Amino acid sequence: MSAYENAKTMSREDVMEKIAALTIQEAGLCAGPLADRLAASLAEAEEEKKETGIVAALNNADTDYVLLEVLKNDPEKVLQGIAIAAMAIGTENKTLCLPERETELADSLAQLASNYHVEVMTGLVNLRANKGRAIIHMVTAADLADAFAGEYVPGVYVSVNGEAVKKVPNGTRVGELADMTDAKALILGYSMCRPDAAGLAVEEAGITNGVVKVLTSHSCVVDETEKRLMASRKQSCGKCVFCREGLIQLQYMQKEITEGRGKGDFVDLTKEIGEAMCFSTPCTLGQNSSKIALTAMENFPAEYEAHIKKKKCPSAVCTKLVNIYIDPKHCNGCGACETVCPYDCIEGQPGYIHMLDDFDCTKCGKCTEVCETGAIVITTGRVPRVPYRLTKVGRFR
Ligand code: SF4
Ligand code: SF4
Ligand code: SF4
Repeated sequence: MSAYENAKTMSREDVMEKIAALTIQEAGLCAGPLADRLAASLAEAEEEKKETGIVAALNNADTDYVLLEVLKNDPEKVLQGIAIAAMAIGTENKTLCLPERETELADSLAQLASNYHVEVMTGLVNLRANKGRAIIHMVTAADLADAFAGEYVPGVYVSVNGEAVKKVPNGTRVGELADMTDAKALILGYSMCRPDAAGLAVEEAGITNGVVKVLTSHSCVVDETEKRLMASRKQSCGKCVFCREGLIQLQYMQKEITEGRGKGDFVDLTKEIGEAMCFSTPCTLGQNSSKIALTAMENFPAEYEAHIKKKKCPSAVCTKLVNIYIDPKHCNGCGACETVCPYDCIEGQPGYIHMLDDFDCTKCGKCTEVCETGAIVITTGRVPRVPYRLTKVGRFR
């Protein structure tokens, strides 16, 4: 018997009691017992004189979408979970809300969803329009279906370094999930954490979007933070000033820092704007997207000092802060780099030491990939003396 069929043999009160007895937790950013969340939606519906309902979605703040895999892997499970949650509060009003870009997925699920009378839509969840409805994470719906099928194991769904999503049982340490040998930072959920966060159990680590990512010595904390802020900026619906303008300011400052134009007061400004966003915005996007910048600056002050004061990127990732040159001792004049450079930055002739003019160079790395002698060097240090006119291989002194 399926989870939904099992639930259909029970009264509404029994379904609710079972959810409470199993202590199923809401998996999204608004953590807490699911039974409390469902009961609160009933109270809110009564107070607001609105119809109650169930809305299952990712967190609005989620820009990685890795937990969408839970739905893609077993859509029927999520739909059954939504239907069971709806039974618990006695509503026929059921919605599955997918990220804006997932129109194809929404179309492909429409037929199956109609079997459970679930409406499928795309876009951010509008909190005001959904007052009185229980907004639950689609992972919570999957957990609920597991529980009514007798297969529920308390745990957290994670994607480690972009790999396939898997559920790991509570109590598992973050450090057991990934190789931490060269780790300099850990992205856990919406925060940039120090490597010692590997000691946290998965259920304590705030992995509410499923993201576990190890940044090694080859990754830049500032560059990663800027990219994540840009993703949030693109996702914001822009209706709230603090979210819209705050994200523009935060992303702009990180970008300036990666390009060597960072200023000392950016750290304080980020704190001021980021903290204001957390408590002045109504939905999880505004409340959580500044956390990456706040935690990055708090946990990695040396990275920011290197970028802002010394104009250096310790990981040699920020292209405006690194130098590139061809080492005349190792160049054999093969010409492979000249052929692949998309911006004609490299000049030379067969048998001659090649020369790189970095004025138009984007540090794309295509030339280093084809250079078999390792002659092309990307460095955070100075460029040594190199030839400025055609010089035969082995003749440069
Ligand atoms: S916080 Fe406001 S502007 Fe930002 S996504 Fe939510 S509703 Fe839109
Ligand atoms: S690919 Fe390397 S060895 Fe060949 S010309 Fe370029 S720098 Fe020299
Ligand atoms: S890094 Fe890219 S743009 Fe720069 S010289 Fe090499 S191939 Fe050309």
